[in-house]
Amino acid sequence: MALEYFEFDIFKQFPEIFACVFTRNGGVSSGAYESLNVSYKCDDKNENVNRNRELICKEIGIDRKNLIAVSQVHGRKILDIAKPLDDEFLTQDIEGYDGMITATKGLYLMVQVGDCQAVMIYDPVEKIVAGVHSGWKGSAQNIIGEAILKMVEMGSDPRNIYVGISPSLGTCCSEFSDPENELPCDLREYILPNKHVDFWKMSVDQCIQAGVPEAQIALPAQCTVCNNDTFFSYRAGKRFAGDFGVVIGMK
Ligand SMILES: [Zn+2]
Repeated sequence: MALEYFEFDIFKQFPEIFACVFTRNGGVSSGAYESLNVSYKCDDKNENVNRNRELICKEIGIDRKNLIAVSQVHGRKILDIAKPLDDEFLTQDIEGYDGMITATKGLYLMVQVGDCQAVMIYDPVEKIVAGVHSGWKGSAQNIIGEAILKMVEMGSDPRNIYVGISPSLGTCCSEFSDPENELPCDLREYILPNKHVDFWKMSVDQCIQAGVPEAQIALPAQCTVCNNDTFFSYRAGKRFAGDFGVVIGMK
């Protein structure tokens, strides 16, 4: 099966960038990782992950050194990158970061998710892109706000920024057993009466608080748990799942 991907509608007005969500289809991994798993952090074979990443590069039409990925540790550190990968990072991720930012054309940032959000950010005026991994721990630390702040430090006006959020855990499937105690205080306003949590609204609010106009923020098109045939889902796979890749870059 060929690789399948969806472009973000909100970024289609900017032909100078490539921003898309690769589905789980078209890769070489098997079992719980079938088939386009891009994550080294599961029990899939590294050689499969390497091959899957090569397939993504081939689909985009870029050299493997231009597909940047970080290890994603549920923190809030953002890697500022301006050159292709050194050889050592062709078979492992750059350690210690959850977000990436670049003003360099031809570098493509790949966020790895399977229920968490890949938040893709673009400033068409200053020509800066960012890709952020935000699970609930990232939400609690407002890594989205941190990424936008970094863009502002690089010259962006947040009123010019556009944001697309990947398919991720929807309110349909985000039940917590005891969210009042499991989540930090500042996230409690997003707990719904049925103990589900609205992580999508949380991210939209964080973008708005950072100065991005609401009309320039696109909600996820789908819930990953409900669409486990198309996307990897940690919840649907009962923890045995890979990650799908979400990519943004300036051509
Ligand atoms: Zn769902």
